[in-house]
Amino acid sequence: MAKGENGKILPDELSRIINKRTDIHYPKPKVVSITQATELGTVYKLKELNEIHKEAKKLKLNTHMDGARLANAIASLSCKPAQITKDVGIDVLCFGGPKNGLALGEAVIFFNLKYAEDFAYRCKQAGQLASKMRFIAAQWFSVLENNIWLKYATHANECAALLEAELKRIDEIKILYPREANSVFIDIPSEMAKFLKSKGWQFYNFIGTGGIRLMCSWDMTKETIRDFVSDIKNFLKKYKNRRNFL
Ligand SMILES: *Cc1c(COP(=O)(O)O)cnc(C)c1O
Repeated sequence: MAKGENGKILPDELSRIINKRTDIHYPKPKVVSITQATELGTVYKLKELNEIHKEAKKLKLNTHMDGARLANAIASLSCKPAQITKDVGIDVLCFGGPKNGLALGEAVIFFNLKYAEDFAYRCKQAGQLASKMRFIAAQWFSVLENNIWLKYATHANECAALLEAELKRIDEIKILYPREANSVFIDIPSEMAKFLKSKGWQFYNFIGTGGIRLMCSWDMTKETIRDFVSDIKNFLKKYKNRRNFL
């Protein structure tokens, strides 16, 4: 496993992992895959991406970007899409749709055309050929035109910033990672989590290292955030005199 802070790979880790073993039972790595924004809701800065690419090149690794949440990263950095993809040497990018308003489908973008060879055949071999793919592809027109994708991602990030600001004011809640995109990871008393679930709120508690993950979507409303925070406050009021819930 690659070591790093806040969900990001440290460039130095690449050579350690690759050179850990050289025997035939150890896979020979050819690609480094960077998740942008990361699984912990943080965002690689331009400098960090450049450092990883430099190290990858030294080790003769190709670079892939898992951009399931790339739109949120671009909105967070206020940069041009090319600046954190093509310009930092990404060979292949998966640009995610479902987390930014599409029903399904990712756009696979080959900056290095060498790796596009026989792609359609490899998709078919891997069992990933969707019938009537034009309907999956067509969705992209509506989000790429007029920068709707960026509008959605900016909105989701702003909602997360608001949620973070509200939660920061509550002593019983600990923010776990820097909030840079559209998620807020928090640590809360288990009784509080149980209460919130009983009110119908849903969240995962197995992503990252403990705590719970709150995601703000492209179509979230500020009212939803207000209602969530108000349920937390209701819980605290209810349990104010019971010191043992923490
Ligand atoms: C959600 C997610 C995926 C899968 O994304 P799809 O666009 O649904 O294929 C892949 N990687 C990461 C990091 C994700 O969060």
